[in-house]
Amino acid sequence: MQAAETSDSLTTSSPRSEFHHLFASPEGDIVLGSKDGVLFRVHSYTLKTTSGWFRAMYSLPQRTPDSRPELKAADNTPDVVYVDEDSRTLEGLLRMVCGLSIPNLDSYDIIEPILHAAEKYDMPGPMSIIRALLSTPPLMSDPLRLYAVTCRYGWQDEAMMASRATLTLNIHSPEHRNTLQKLGSDALLSLFSLHRTRREALRKRLDDPPFVNDSGDTSCSNCGSLVDYHTWRELKYVIIMEMDARPLGDTVCNTGLLEWSAARACWEAKCINCDRVLYDKTLTMRVIRECIEQLPTTIE
Ligand SMILES: [Zn+2]
Repeated sequence: MQAAETSDSLTTSSPRSEFHHLFASPEGDIVLGSKDGVLFRVHSYTLKTTSGWFRAMYSLPQRTPDSRPELKAADNTPDVVYVDEDSRTLEGLLRMVCGLSIPNLDSYDIIEPILHAAEKYDMPGPMSIIRALLSTPPLMSDPLRLYAVTCRYGWQDEAMMASRATLTLNIHSPEHRNTLQKLGSDALLSLFSLHRTRREALRKRLDDPPFVNDSGDTSCSNCGSLVDYHTWRELKYVIIMEMDARPLGDTVCNTGLLEWSAARACWEAKCINCDRVLYDKTLTMRVIRECIEQLPTTIE
């Protein structure tokens, strides 16, 4: 709750705009005015019971109509409390606290202003509704923005889910810069760490048995003569570059190891002495897949 905004963000005056058709009941005893001039007539009881901000506002001494007669409309219409939100945001917020059908909450341009307002007015109801909808497809389709929202409001389980969904993205790509700038440094570092850890852990794992590594000479398991493992080194490099661009690793396992030219060269490589293939393609692909499956999938 941001009580300091009480005096700054509110102005009152007589109504001069149109009422929203859902919020026009003459029984309402308070009128909220949106930034774009739409009026919402609601019950102060509803606002007091669903908003810590309005509860606090109403706990302050209220002026009586007689003390400010110049603002009292002739038809007993209450004064208008103008707020910073536009009519779409205010409608969404009031639909939720008044028990009406909720609006379409299927884009970040819709939910972010509502969350911002719900936080400002200390309205846990709308926040819980939006939180419950975060795993729906329209919101999951932008995992980086989902991650930003979940970190912003401290929703750890959802932030972990979102971090897993970001693994299909190259977060170093310029197109993500604007969203990343919205993250706090802790959230940003956690995400970078997850992406980097997956790449680096796989890089190290690919140097351990059953994979051959770069230390010292290696001999053919069949005839014992020295062999050149450069095709594996090149494939390993391509795998790591792909993990950097798409840390999920699905494109490595599902297509890369079958289709990349570096992969084909590796599977076709033979010992120049005995002509035996150097790498067991099926075994190698299976072990790489297992290694990727064991990598961490979420922020900690
Ligand atoms: Zn050999």
